[in-house]
Amino acid sequence: MEISHIEHLGIAVKSIEAALPFYEGVLGLKCYSIEVVEDQKVKTAFLKIGQTKIELLEPTSPESAIAKFIEKKGEGIHHIAYCIQDGVANALAEVNEKGVQLIDKAPRHGAEGLDIAFLHPKSTASVLTELCETPKQ
Ligand code: ZN
Repeated sequence: MEISHIEHLGIAVKSIEAALPFYEGVLGLKCYSIEVVEDQKVKTAFLKIGQTKIELLEPTSPESAIAKFIEKKGEGIHHIAYCIQDGVANALAEVNEKGVQLIDKAPRHGAEGLDIAFLHPKSTASVLTELCETPKQ
């Protein structure tokens, strides 16, 4: 597979509203989108740094995987997402062949309608890893 850059870092926060003053007021980044992803039970906020984004993830329900993450580990970096040049489906087939445990056996639609898939932390030195389709420019 060919990875061009880090697409985004996912950061679990209890409150986007409480976290934004640091990212906007201190780091000087701009939040350009806030989106609720109903099926993931999260609210997301995106900020851009060059080609890379920061994705703040706030749980909208105690059932949310992000709520459980914060409960266990506290707020902090939740996952790292790589930008895949040659298709997420191809990359999944390739890592599967190399014995990597998959969370998603097939790509699904993530934020901005792009294909994404998660690899299991058991196979990735404990870092939840997301593969992202390259947005069409
Ligand atoms: Zn993500």
